[in-house]
Amino acid sequence: MELNVADILKIAGKTGSARLTESVAGIDLSGKSIVLSEPVTVDASYIFDGEGISLTGTLSSAVRMNCTRCNDEFTEDFAVDFSERFLRIPEEQAEEQECYSFTGDTLSLDKMIQDILILNAPMYGVCKPDCKGLCPSCGANLNYQKCSCCEADDNSPFAALKGLKELLKDQ
Ligand SMILES: [Zn+2]
Ligand SMILES: [Zn+2]
Repeated sequence: MELNVADILKIAGKTGSARLTESVAGIDLSGKSIVLSEPVTVDASYIFDGEGISLTGTLSSAVRMNCTRCNDEFTEDFAVDFSERFLRIPEEQAEEQECYSFTGDTLSLDKMIQDILILNAPMYGVCKPDCKGLCPSCGANLNYQKCSCCEADDNSPFAALKGLKELLKDQ
């Protein structure tokens, strides 16, 4: 993703804003990957202070992942606020100063986007707050079906007590 900042580089103190959207390939981390189900949108405002550019805004997208309870695939929207600085210095030097480098009058946002995703994209979650998960005995997805192990559960003392309470309520 590229942001052209030619219009603010002439005068210090000048500001600009932009909304950019671009598909970003998934990111592979050791053993785990971030899979985006929607393009990344960057909403940013920026200012040139005579030396570098400060870029602040929000990055949003959605990730596709597997529920930690039932293992079903689902997507989750997320938005992350960021505030970064871009300087006209070599990349290695920028890394030491914890900022990003740029040349010419265009900021390449790819590295910043990748860093934000690695640090902030949700990687674990449940498909819905009341996900029932998998049966620990037979592995059935309890969101879709009731297995015979669950029926056995209905014979537990608690289930019997619940049944009794409902009986009393009806009278
Ligand atoms: Zn689930
Ligand atoms: Zn079961």
